Amino acid sequence: MKIADLFFPPQCPSCGELLSFDGFFGASGVERAALCPDCLPLWEKEKEEPCGLCGEKVINCQCATKMMQSAGCKTFCKLVYYRPGNREEVGNRIVYRIKDHADRNAVNFLAGELAPQIRARMQAGEWGGNAFFVTYLPRRAGTILKSGNDQAKELAAALAKQLELPLIPAVGRHAKNRTPQKFLGPAKRLSNATAAFYLREKYQSRVAGKTAILVDDIVTSGASMTAGVRLLRRAGAKGFLAVAVASDECNRNPVVVTPEPQNERGYAPYR
Ligand SMILES: [Zn+2]
Ligand SMILES: [Zn+2]
Repeated sequence: MKIADLFFPPQCPSCGELLSFDGFFGASGVERAALCPDCLPLWEKEKEEPCGLCGEKVINCQCATKMMQSAGCKTFCKLVYYRPGNREEVGNRIVYRIKDHADRNAVNFLAGELAPQIRARMQAGEWGGNAFFVTYLPRRAGTILKSGNDQAKELAAALAKQLELPLIPAVGRHAKNRTPQKFLGPAKRLSNATAAFYLREKYQSRVAGKTAILVDDIVTSGASMTAGVRLLRRAGAKGFLAVAVASDECNRNPVVVTPEPQNERGYAPYR
């Protein structure tokens, strides 16, 4: 037990319920982030929803969005669907928890859920023996200032630690406050994302010849991921494994229809 846990007792990363120390440390006595008994079965169910494209459980689905595939990123690992209209789902609540607050417990929980999935895909052997590194798509500086955190960066750092891989922040984001992606249609999203990110050249030599594990929190059209893949490819990266907590477009399930609240331009609110 850490001293800090006495002052900040562990909470369920989804609903915020206080957890008992027993639940937090597990039978092995090893520290682990855990969900409360109410959220755990719901979360397990959300990970097992079938992908609308390949039919696999979403946790096992590899489907990348069309845009990502066209940039050469064919493997996309995610945990759950993202449905902006349903904030009450366990997965969505965790996503908002890492977006709106710097919740270390939630970040560690998500990294713990993603790491074995990423490891399985790394071992699938499609990577030509390349070394791996972890990188991420940073948020806008203004947004970081407002919310106090960059959840993709924090998730990537936690993943790098758990996977024992280097974290290389090779992608930068221009400070200029461009139109948030949520206000744009898919075509404009890609040009907007392409203009938003740049390659941090001092990291170029550490990226060349390797496979990038590219982390973001939520993927909708995949425009930001696509822009990131293109930049990393220009830097000499040879393979791309995209990772996000939640995704909507590529996993759009025709069976489940959830009405989404829309803003005045007709797009679901996001970011
Ligand atoms: Zn809970
Ligand atoms: Zn799929």
